[in-house]
Amino acid sequence: MTAEDTTPVTGRSRCAGTPIPPAAALSREAYAGRACYACEKRLTTGAILVGRAVGRMGAHVLDCDAYACP
Ligand SMILES: [Zn+2]
Repeated sequence: MTAEDTTPVTGRSRCAGTPIPPAAALSREAYAGRACYACEKRLTTGAILVGRAVGRMGAHVLDCDAYACP
């Protein structure tokens, strides 16, 4: 068996393949959509909208969009 994991996940970055953590676990920057939720890298152009991070604090819903680097 050849250990070859250089093949990109179909059309998505490694970060975009990372499961989205709960909203409460995101950094401030990631929560605001300014950083990748997976690697914390600051997003500039071509960020991928992967889905929603969901969370709730008391009566407040913390759901937010989760972006990953391209
Ligand atoms: Zn990333």
